[in-house]
Amino acid sequence: MPGRWRKPFTVFQTNLQEIDATMDVEAALDVIEDHGADTWLVNAGGIVAFHPTDLPFQTRNPFLADRPSGDLLGDAVTAAERRGVRVIARLDLSKVAAAVAAEHPGWLFRSAAGEPQVYNALYSTCPAGEYYQRRALEILDEILDRYAVGGFFVNWFNFNERDYSEVVHGVCHCASCAERFAEFSNGRALPDTHETTDLPLWLRYTAATLEELGRKYTDHVASRDRDLAFVLTKGAPMLYSEGNNAFRHMPGKELWPHATAETVSAHVSAGTRGPLVLNAVAHVDSTYRMGAEQPEHVAQHLIQAIARGGNPSTYILGAPGRLPMASVSLARTVTRFHRERHDLYAALRPAATIALVRPGGERGRHPGRLDALEEFRGLYRALQERHLPFDVVGLGDLAAMDAAGRLDRYRLVALPDVGPLGTDTAEALDAFVERGGNLLTTGGGGTTPEGGVALAASPAARRIGAPVSGKEVWSTYATLDEQPHAHEGRFVGSVVPVYGSSARYVWKPGCDKAGSVLAQAPWGPPELSHGHVPGGDPAVASIHYGSGVSAMIPWTIGRTYREFAKTEIREHLLRVVEPLADAGSARHCPSRSNSFWGATMTDTWCT
Ligand SMILES: [Zn+2]
Repeated sequence: MPGRWRKPFTVFQTNLQEIDATMDVEAALDVIEDHGADTWLVNAGGIVAFHPTDLPFQTRNPFLADRPSGDLLGDAVTAAERRGVRVIARLDLSKVAAAVAAEHPGWLFRSAAGEPQVYNALYSTCPAGEYYQRRALEILDEILDRYAVGGFFVNWFNFNERDYSEVVHGVCHCASCAERFAEFSNGRALPDTHETTDLPLWLRYTAATLEELGRKYTDHVASRDRDLAFVLTKGAPMLYSEGNNAFRHMPGKELWPHATAETVSAHVSAGTRGPLVLNAVAHVDSTYRMGAEQPEHVAQHLIQAIARGGNPSTYILGAPGRLPMASVSLARTVTRFHRERHDLYAALRPAATIALVRPGGERGRHPGRLDALEEFRGLYRALQERHLPFDVVGLGDLAAMDAAGRLDRYRLVALPDVGPLGTDTAEALDAFVERGGNLLTTGGGGTTPEGGVALAASPAARRIGAPVSGKEVWSTYATLDEQPHAHEGRFVGSVVPVYGSSARYVWKPGCDKAGSVLAQAPWGPPELSHGHVPGGDPAVASIHYGSGVSAMIPWTIGRTYREFAKTEIREHLLRVVEPLADAGSARHCPSRSNSFWGATMTDTWCT
């Protein structure tokens, strides 16, 4: 990764339409600089070339004919260079014009039925095919030979599984895919649809293909020795992430407002990835590109990005000023703030002592993925609202982070209901606790479908029977407080609902149990809605393992908090979290004096 791109930078992307070929580049740069950006991400080639390309398989923008120089990219680079603004050239290789498609049918996406994918008269291409694999290098070379660009960004760097209208075209069956997939999978045929057990394998094939392609592009431009950035969503030394509220993915669904902070934190925590560009979108969705996003939303993506160590980028449609730009008004404030403090941001390092593990979530692999995500989000909100600093850590990154010594700065690793763990991950977490770290698992974190417990550090030996969920947990509760009058039907202190799923465990000898789960009792009619008694199941159990403590909440407290949003549930969770994180201050301890976490653990954990 070249030196200058290692330092903080600020980006403004003008995502141009064909009609912008005649745009005033000086006026655009005025807006870009005023916004606080030192880098301009502008269209160069791919679907439409904004320069007079001589490559027969590139399509010159016909509106370039109306530009005196006939070369928008050239004018942009020259003008930007005069001002010390760097230009990143934007390519989109995902589609080609009909004439190119007719000449090169082998470059195209093919459905299982052999059909191409056509969208607004453009033909979708395949990353496994020759266009992406070889001809793209000629596109890069032509631009590098002609222009002093500072780098490249390739848009839609993905397999064309679905189009802009959300029509699912599925698995590509082009000849290149058939050959490469067979090689990747020891001779298997491509899956016909997404509804197949081979989907995870195919997804790994697509990821591997894109990673390899990203490296190919990066190595290719590196040979120029020109301090070039290569920005991709995957497989590149500089990663791109989009901050949007994409309406089309969630009509009727709840917005998760922390998505950007979560993504950037997981990226930075891993410690091995390069700089990240967080591109905040100025419109509500690609289906409403003229619909300006709420300015606070745009700015929030950027604030979350810079707070977590990302580089801010603002993305507008078209030449600046051609469309209303009120949506980026606050993004400008954030971008300028970052630019004026580049020295500070260059020195920014995560210092949180809590790691919150984000579920793996590989599509098609983990049937409980959305439930795991909700569990994660419940914990996320609780920590955020209590202002306990935490990093997000990818489940798949834990083993490598442990090997690199990057887990040791955490006091607590919180592992939400992520399901089974890989051997490497379980060993990493065990070693972390053994060295003195604390671990909290919630729900079925670390438990196999058969009821085995992957973590040697766990207070649980094995699960008893299957977890219960849905209606089976209705009218179940948990309490951390002593309930001496429960048998008379009288309860004191805090009693919170158990929602989502819950399981019973065989606990290891020597484990400490606190509170209790009040097993299900009738909830209707009201006359009969009683009979809850504390059973033998604790609300939380913990055990000393090596020099650390490993604790488990055997039900999905995160999902419960997400569902009911009651602060009492959050407080229940934080009563467990804070001692483990060494985060509770002395003032919290007396209030816990009636609970296990107060009475038993105060001496050793509260200072
Ligand atoms: Zn293909």
